[in-house]
Amino acid sequence: MYYFMYEMETEEYRASWGSGNTSKIVSICECTSRKTAYEEPIKFQIEGEPFDYYLIMNRSMISERFYTFLKESGLTGVRFRNAVVQKWNPFRYESEIKLEDLKYYEMVVTGRCGLLRNMSGITLPHCKKCGRRLAHTGICTNGVSFDPASYDGSDIFTFTNLPNIPIVTEKLRDAIISQGFTNIRFVPLNEKVFDDTFPIHLIQKRLNEGRASKELIEVWLENGIITPNMIPDNNKPVQE
Ligand SMILES: [Zn+2]
Repeated sequence: MYYFMYEMETEEYRASWGSGNTSKIVSICECTSRKTAYEEPIKFQIEGEPFDYYLIMNRSMISERFYTFLKESGLTGVRFRNAVVQKWNPFRYESEIKLEDLKYYEMVVTGRCGLLRNMSGITLPHCKKCGRRLAHTGICTNGVSFDPASYDGSDIFTFTNLPNIPIVTEKLRDAIISQGFTNIRFVPLNEKVFDDTFPIHLIQKRLNEGRASKELIEVWLENGIITPNMIPDNNKPVQE
């Protein structure tokens, strides 16, 4: 069994993106998807009790204790970059900790397991060029899986088209839990829900206004979300 590693869902005690982070665009796809790289170190801010794990702007920030554990475990599929806690507002959290004591690292996952697939092994609708998952597909996916042939065998890895959410093996999950690291929530891959359903009248509106991409119309037809007679003439896929 494999698990997504998310942070806890809580209104309080959050971390947020810092100021002055600079990025450069690595690539832009025809589908408008863009890949950006941020310069090291990423700066961020913490409110309340400092936790061992934060997902900020889909980037994994880990405490020094967590970093040491991961590093000493000799895991594959991961590398680390320095991070800086720019500001700390303890709020109601009482402790002797000072801002300069807060040492954090960015965890960059390099292990991969190919494209997101549903539990039947079929890839979720995606851009054929860059792999980005399509939104508004009308499909609700209950549970995801990967193709073992596309998995590089790393201890920590991600889907190629969900690169910011780490996945860990069961053994590593158990070790992380036993160490008591905070602000981590594990979701088994087969329980993860991607709900892309949206009301049929909005799909029809989009079709009528000619705002649905050819790719998306194909996905809707293939999955029985729409019938061909719902497509206005000016929006019909071109027959070649
Ligand atoms: Zn693309």
